[in-house]
Amino acid sequence: MHELGIVMQVVNQVEAVAKENEVKEVVKLTLEVGEVSSVVPALFRDCFEWAKKRTEKLNNCELDLVVLEAISYCRSCDRTYSTTEYAKKCPHCGSDDTYLVTGNEIRIKDIEVL
Ligand SMILES: [Zn+2]
Repeated sequence: MHELGIVMQVVNQVEAVAKENEVKEVVKLTLEVGEVSSVVPALFRDCFEWAKKRTEKLNNCELDLVVLEAISYCRSCDRTYSTTEYAKKCPHCGSDDTYLVTGNEIRIKDIEVL
């Protein structure tokens, strides 16, 4: 279950920032998660609920997950397309000389504090 590792990383990072800035409490955390980042949102939430109780600043923190669409780029015809729909094969020209542009990342988008 690699979600827990990712959650711990994010939670520790936010906790460190909150302490640095002498924040009283982090009330909401918004994360952007790529469609193909292999994170299961439901598992991620469970891990987050567990992890936040072990922090000082995130005890009552609400988690907002924003799923980002995965986009691939085709080197043969210089066009982009939805990765989840077509995977590695370009729907425009049929080439499989493609790579993932976005959809693989986990990013902190916003932190709301008191
Ligand atoms: Zn193409």
